This record gives sequence, structure tokens and C-alpha cells, in this order.
Amino acid sequence: MDYQSILAEIEQEVFPLLERGKVANYIPALAEVNPKQFAMTITLFDGTQYSVGQADALFSIQSISKVFTFTLALKFYGTELYKRVGHEPSGNPFNSLVQLEYEKGKPRNPFINAGAINVTDALISHYGSAQVAYKEVLEFIRAISDEKSITSNDVVSASEMEHGFRNLALANLMKSFNNLDNRVADVVGTYFKHCAVEMNTKTLSRAMLYLANDGVDPISGQIYITASQSKRINAVMLTCGHYDASGDFAFNVGLPGKSGVGGGIVAVIPEKMGICVWSPGLNENGNSLVGTKALELFTTKTGLSIF
Ligand code: GLN
Repeated sequence: MDYQSILAEIEQEVFPLLERGKVANYIPALAEVNPKQFAMTITLFDGTQYSVGQADALFSIQSISKVFTFTLALKFYGTELYKRVGHEPSGNPFNSLVQLEYEKGKPRNPFINAGAINVTDALISHYGSAQVAYKEVLEFIRAISDEKSITSNDVVSASEMEHGFRNLALANLMKSFNNLDNRVADVVGTYFKHCAVEMNTKTLSRAMLYLANDGVDPISGQIYITASQSKRINAVMLTCGHYDASGDFAFNVGLPGKSGVGGGIVAVIPEKMGICVWSPGLNENGNSLVGTKALELFTTKTGLSIF
């Protein structure tokens, strides 16, 4: 298949839509990003990459980091993890408080904010401190993307902490239900730091390969998680990766995927490739507007989807 030509067609077709999305403005440091940017990369199992647009430009991975923290927590806790966080779609916005109160402090899944904060708490308990947990999450991201220079942007995480009222409320609510072990400020601070990691579409599409290959990196041969755990992470990406628009994403794109408010979306084509698309303008559900469209075009043009 001529992937390069397909990506070039997609880039042209989405161009008129670049004006439509709105950048996340509830994190002031992200509000300054120019929305009219676009990049897309696919990485095959032999490491071959095809890209269009600004594929070297770094952006804030935000909620895409939840895939990596969920992976590590599942690796260490196994199915015990589901005692503190579920695996059902929430049907609610990513930062909603209402359901968490009804359901006595147990978040629906690891990809809504409450669930990801809970997973970060589990990692802090596992590693013994917030500092070590953050360092190990970063090392894991560097390993799976084979890029040692990846780091987190302190301006973005500090900006989010300053305006993090909702995430702090979610963490406090979980703490009140005894579903958070560590100090709220430490947990939320660590969560913001892994959200503020900066990557590009090349490194992020590379980082998805272990999930396309049953938990094993097809290039290095490194085993990160079991095939069963990889299957579960993909299932949760498919059903919960786009919050209350997860059904739409499954319907229109047909791949396990995870979005972030920095405008990135990662997706997995089992046995074939990792994909990342980036465009900072978001739709009303907080998912990249052009990114979603580009992925829909990709699965339509290539005929590759899980269905
Ligand atoms: N750091 C962001 C937040 O907690 C992540 C949200 C997202 O990317 N959807 O609000």
C-alpha cells in the first residue's frame, strides 16, 4: 500500500477544517498554541515511518499519558487494579465529578481524569514516592518510544496546577471515599507532570507498537506486558479512549485510540502499526477535531480497521 500518498491526500483533505477546532484554554499554557497545525505519522513493525505535516513538532501529550500509566499499573497490580478503578465507559465528560459521587469514589475507567489520577496514586504507592513514580513513568515512555530526550514541560504542569481546581476536587472526593492512598497534592502534581510530557507524532506512533503486538515491542523484542493485558488496554482504549465521544470514535474510525487535550490522538492497528495524529484544535468533547477526521479518512482509504 502506498502509505505516503494516502497520508498526503489526508493532509490536503483536512486542510480546510484546521480553522474549526478550539485549543484547550482551561490550561493557560496550552491556550497559546497555534491551532492551525497538523501532523500524522504511522510506524510499521520494522520501524519504517511515514509522516506528513509537522511531525517533528513537540506537543503536550496530556491524556495520552494515561495509556502509559494504565499499562504500568496493570503490569504491577494485575486484575487487583480493578478494585479501585473500573473498565466501563463513563458516558460523561473527562473531568466530570457527578458520577464519581454516585459511585462512591470509584472512577469508571483509567482514562477519565479521576481514573487516571487514581492510577497515578497506585503507581506512587508501588514505587514508594511521587518522585520515583514520575521518573519511572518517564523512563517507560522513553523506552517504548526509543527516544531518550523526551521530557516534561514544567511551565505546562505548573500552569495546570495553578488552575487544577477540578482535578484536585476529583482527587479529594476519592480521598473522602478512601480510594486514594497518598497525599492529594502529590498525586495530582505527579499526574500533571506526566500529562505535560512533550512528544511528536513520530515518537508517539512508535510508542504504540507494543500495543499492536500483544505487549511485545516488535523492534527490540522487549516484553512489556502480557498479551492478555495488551488486549485489555486496547479494549479500554476502544470503549473509553475518547470519553463521551468514544462511541463516535469507534463508529467513525474503528480503532482503539486515545486522545489528549494537547490535540494528539494515538491509535493502534493490531499486528500492523502504531499511528499518531496531531492538530491542536479540539471539538466540543475535547478531542482533536482534525485528528479524528484524519483517522477516519485513514481507515476508510486503507480499509484497515478492527472491524
Ligand atoms: N491534564 C488534562 C486534565 O487533567 C488532561 C485532560 C485531557 O487530555 N483530556 O484536564
